[in-house]
Amino acid sequence: MRWTRSLIPTLKEEPAEAEAVSHKLMIRAGLVRQLAAGIYITLPLGQRVMDKIDAIIREEMNRIGGQEITMPVLHPAELWQQTGRWTTIGEEMFRLHDRGKRSMCLGMTHEEVVAWLAAHEIRSYRDLPQIWYQLQTKLRDEARPKSGVLRTREFVMKDSYSLDRDEAGLQKNYELHKEAYCRIFTRCGLAFHVVESDPGMMGGAAAHEFMAPSQAGEDEIALCNRCSYSANVELAVSRSRYPVFPHWDLEEIATPGAGTIDEVCRFLRIDPALTIKSLLFMTDDGPLLALLRGDQRLHEKKLARAAGGEARPAHREEILTHVGVGAGSIGPIGVTLPVIADESLREGRYVTGANKDGFHLRGVRPDIHFQPRWADIRHVSNGDLCPHCDGSLRIERVIEVGNIFRLGTKYSVSMKAVYLNEAGEECPIVMGSYGIGVARIAAAAVEQRHDDFGIVWPSALAPFQLHLLPVNMRDQKTIELAEALYAALQLEGIETLYDDRDERAGVKFKDADLLGLPLRITVGTRAIKEGTVDLKVRKTGEEVHIPLSEAISKVRALLSHPTD
Ligand code: ATP
Ligand code: MG
Repeated sequence: MRWTRSLIPTLKEEPAEAEAVSHKLMIRAGLVRQLAAGIYITLPLGQRVMDKIDAIIREEMNRIGGQEITMPVLHPAELWQQTGRWTTIGEEMFRLHDRGKRSMCLGMTHEEVVAWLAAHEIRSYRDLPQIWYQLQTKLRDEARPKSGVLRTREFVMKDSYSLDRDEAGLQKNYELHKEAYCRIFTRCGLAFHVVESDPGMMGGAAAHEFMAPSQAGEDEIALCNRCSYSANVELAVSRSRYPVFPHWDLEEIATPGAGTIDEVCRFLRIDPALTIKSLLFMTDDGPLLALLRGDQRLHEKKLARAAGGEARPAHREEILTHVGVGAGSIGPIGVTLPVIADESLREGRYVTGANKDGFHLRGVRPDIHFQPRWADIRHVSNGDLCPHCDGSLRIERVIEVGNIFRLGTKYSVSMKAVYLNEAGEECPIVMGSYGIGVARIAAAAVEQRHDDFGIVWPSALAPFQLHLLPVNMRDQKTIELAEALYAALQLEGIETLYDDRDERAGVKFKDADLLGLPLRITVGTRAIKEGTVDLKVRKTGEEVHIPLSEAISKVRALLSHPTD
């Protein structure tokens, strides 16, 4: 492709609004443009990257027996009302009315439509199993669209759905998807972890996420340094390390002016692990006291799961109303509220608030002095013990690029997607659901593969393989050599971006580094004098001078063994 005939609006300056590296680089390299918050236009080079990802996904989905279909973006509300998600999904769903005032929505995922299709088209056990997939636009009114194409309100997802007779069939298709996903992300050049995850709004029995390590990620995972344990921190469990507990008897002690855990520990000269942090939360069912060890952090999603619904921290007035003291003096003894205590408090003797301003209790033994409901509500921390072995856990920040859910019969039951088994009995179809974000893969690749000068594309995703860069487009001889080389490269089927702009060499080199194509050929003065060109590998920075006549075979050789 000739640069002069293309739309490649590269930018020298970083866009002011962008924080994530991939956001900055994808804008600067002219891959995408933002139309509105969380809504992007994919420009020609960006489109080529997306097409490459789509092709890899299609190959791997077809390989496991997936059949491509296309389901509508516009859905009648009834479908979502039938499964109950019309009300439970909340504000993330774009809703609208047609001219006949019928309620509709824009598809944020397609379990309902798949179950509808299965209900109409699957009759007997002989029709199963099936894998249906699509590459389709999803619309979600995300609360915080951010980081460029990592989180947008309109994005293309590969979503697939498996339909089976039973759990064993689902398990097989789940494993097939897991393997396909590993191949897809490996081929896309991503470093990634497969972790256990929370089924969340999908509501299935089990799930895994595919996580690409990056500081730009919004998720955190816990990984064991010894065994294969890995889980999203929303789900991860750990074993606490315990301090040595003093043999305190239960007594009330004055702690004037000490409210926070830090203040109490400084005043009493004790380790925060010897204290209990009592936090008042408000739920739809009223107030709730959550207890954690003083050195640990609460995970709000875990608490919400344990509480059976959203929980928000109580305001100061609410604490006064429900407990009758300031936030720094709340404790579990003597309150009439429901109490959820973190599992790590099952052992030990602690200092807690006394529900009396200026006082704490020392020697409090959970389960003996008060009876909480036990749950895992703490945030796993770096260095915590692995739940399965003697290893310790480390926390990594990651981008979720894909996920897989064992749904079971949740959707088939409500949508009446049934089949007749050998005995002629009606059974609900057992479903799985599997998603991958196409643009998110591209952005994650940029996050993981860039340097100070720009993107370093893995060959599989690069919009072109080769950047052909004549230094001086005012020199007739250079133009002739470059044109001839471009024609030969095209004949060879080597994807080439030909920078035929009459620009300063510095500008062209900078743009070449920014775009990050795997190989670059520079046609400079030596091409005319000595008949040689420079061939540079973007990833390693290696550059060789080679005779023009060898350029194509050398490029071929390098592309057949990409270093990524
Ligand atoms: P997240 O936790 O990041 O919101 P999700 O759990 O909502 O993701 P799914 O609904 O399972 O994700 O979607 C499957 C895949 O689609 C995700 O793994 C991700 O790659 C992609 N994806 C989800 N939401 C977005 C978005 N707003 N923008 C871009 N890609 C997205
Ligand atoms: Mg989401």
